[in-house]
Amino acid sequence: MGSVLEVKIRTLTPLWTGGVARTMDRIHETGIIGSLRWWYEAIVRGLGGTACDPSEHSCPDSSGRLCDGCVVFGTTGLKRAFQLVEWKFQLEWKAWVNPEIDARLDVKVGSHPKHRGWFLGRGFLGEIGASLTLLRWPQNWHPEQLIHILHLILGFIANWGGLGPKTQQGYGVVEVELKDEQGHPRELNLQTAIEGIRRLQERIDWRGYTRKEREKLRNWPSLENFFFSKARFSLSDPKGWIKDQAYKVSPERELSWYLKTTRPPAGVLPLAPIVRYHLRRLIRESKQNEHSVFSRDERHRLMGEQGRKSLIHVSHAYSISEGKWELRIWGWLPDSLPEEKRVAVVNHLCSWLGIQQEGDWHTPTSGQLWTKIGLSPEEICWFRRRIDENAEDFLRRLLGNRGEGGS
Ligand SMILES: [Zn+2]
Repeated sequence: MGSVLEVKIRTLTPLWTGGVARTMDRIHETGIIGSLRWWYEAIVRGLGGTACDPSEHSCPDSSGRLCDGCVVFGTTGLKRAFQLVEWKFQLEWKAWVNPEIDARLDVKVGSHPKHRGWFLGRGFLGEIGASLTLLRWPQNWHPEQLIHILHLILGFIANWGGLGPKTQQGYGVVEVELKDEQGHPRELNLQTAIEGIRRLQERIDWRGYTRKEREKLRNWPSLENFFFSKARFSLSDPKGWIKDQAYKVSPERELSWYLKTTRPPAGVLPLAPIVRYHLRRLIRESKQNEHSVFSRDERHRLMGEQGRKSLIHVSHAYSISEGKWELRIWGWLPDSLPEEKRVAVVNHLCSWLGIQQEGDWHTPTSGQLWTKIGLSPEEICWFRRRIDENAEDFLRRLLGNRGEGGS
């Protein structure tokens, strides 16, 4: 079967590459596919499907059954259901070639000697094109379903999350475009995609969860546990602002690399370290009746430390129009965090971000986070599954109202 779709990905913040130039295409492909799988599994789990822990290589089981993750993304002895071929990486700026690959931006927010700061390695900025080819499809599916599911994942990433590694630290905000063989833009059919995911459970080779897996599931990302937020603010002198906010940001040349672009409106304001620094402090300083709301371990889980990835992701800001910027704060709160703590995280975040209502864009109040970093967003949106809402309706709401436009 030939190519059925053209996928185009344009970066809004750099895509993390791991700083290895020679095999960059390979790194991108691995990072991109790995990320597609991660989001696919989070959505599938939310919709009641199964996705095993890929590191355990437990699929297929002794009866040859496969979870909903492996049946699409492959496992030992089973290739992926689709292939992205003819990767083309077009750099936005020529500067991204050796020896610039080792370039990094040092950001130190506080002056305390114990605060080591961040070293932001240079990622890839530009456009990525690939052709999608279907190799097989799960039982009960027709090829269109696989295409719509891939479209759903890519659309979800583009609207709310990030692509590739290190999305906790600012990388991986992208725009995505899908075109058919004739070059016409494709529309996402959410209904077909959701039906496809549901139909996976009717397979003869469907593998449900064992009790052990069900217990572990509490630690795995599942759509129903996510929250998503975007904020928009005006800033006419981004370089002046970041220099004010950081104790040290250098070298100047590297900062200019982020801010400069050949295609306005574009440009990246590498503020994730600054936002993370203040979020971490706000979390640490949260008190109720003079006791810390979050334990040391919980703080580390939320913001990452000691080898753990953080549950809270903060993007760099990206330009959306002349002098206007947007950033994303999103994450997920596993059931293994006690419920009162999950509620506390959400309530505190909403207060620090000045959230007034769940859902649509609105004008935020002056939340503490914004006061600390000297920004006053004009618009903000916050999405979290409502108590009486299932993950499917949450998904529909997220993709039906993409937080676009604004008031
Ligand atoms: Zn599996």
